[in-house]
Amino acid sequence: VTVAETALAADQMAPEEERSFLLETFRRLRERYDLDRWHWQASTPAVDVCVGAVLVQHTAWTNVEKAVANLRAAGALSIEAMAGMDDETLAALVRPAGFPLTKARRLKAFASLALRHGGLDLLLGLPTPELRAALLSTEGIGPETADVVLLYAARRPANVPDAYTQRLLRRLGLGPARDGYAAWAAWLANRLPPDLGLLQRFHAGVVVHCKETCRARPRCAACPLLDMCAFGRASAPGSKGPIS
Ligand code: SF4
Repeated sequence: VTVAETALAADQMAPEEERSFLLETFRRLRERYDLDRWHWQASTPAVDVCVGAVLVQHTAWTNVEKAVANLRAAGALSIEAMAGMDDETLAALVRPAGFPLTKARRLKAFASLALRHGGLDLLLGLPTPELRAALLSTEGIGPETADVVLLYAARRPANVPDAYTQRLLRRLGLGPARDGYAAWAAWLANRLPPDLGLLQRFHAGVVVHCKETCRARPRCAACPLLDMCAFGRASAPGSKGPIS
């Protein structure tokens, strides 16, 4: 059975077949894109990941980079420094990322969570369920931000089914019966192996693919997944149009 034939029956696939389909998707994305350019790498310091995960909400990564550069230049890219700053000073530094006062307060809330646990390393060393609960109880940290921190800063095999992931996999004919972050996270966890490197690269590959090719208006003709994708094939010239 070819991948294309499998895709035709995507809604009838067993979890094991869906796992193979996801791994083939990952293989092709890894081959197409230079994932070493992804902003979170295995070597990225944990504090950079955490700050970036808070700042990236509702803005583009290029704006986050400017805000992080400001923090670094001011000697404020540390839990202790952020915790000790007043809201307005911190807000001025993170202004390029938008919503400066809100994001300054969120960074301080995260910094104070870390200090309550004895520092960032000790916070990130908590058992996964405890760490996720602590993150979720912090101002401005929702499930997606918490999972980014788990995956890239605490280096736990978490899935991050963000809007890009959900859109791509739906177009490929995959996903849980009902949408919702928790449903998607459980669906992925039942299919992808709990391999840290794979999950980091899978998330990176999906986001890069969705920014460069599978955009809101997808560029299917240039897509390495076209023969696997029900939506893309239905959108191709001569077809009867995209599948809803
Ligand atoms: S074929 Fe089109 S819709 Fe399908 S994954 Fe590629 S870009 Fe997205």
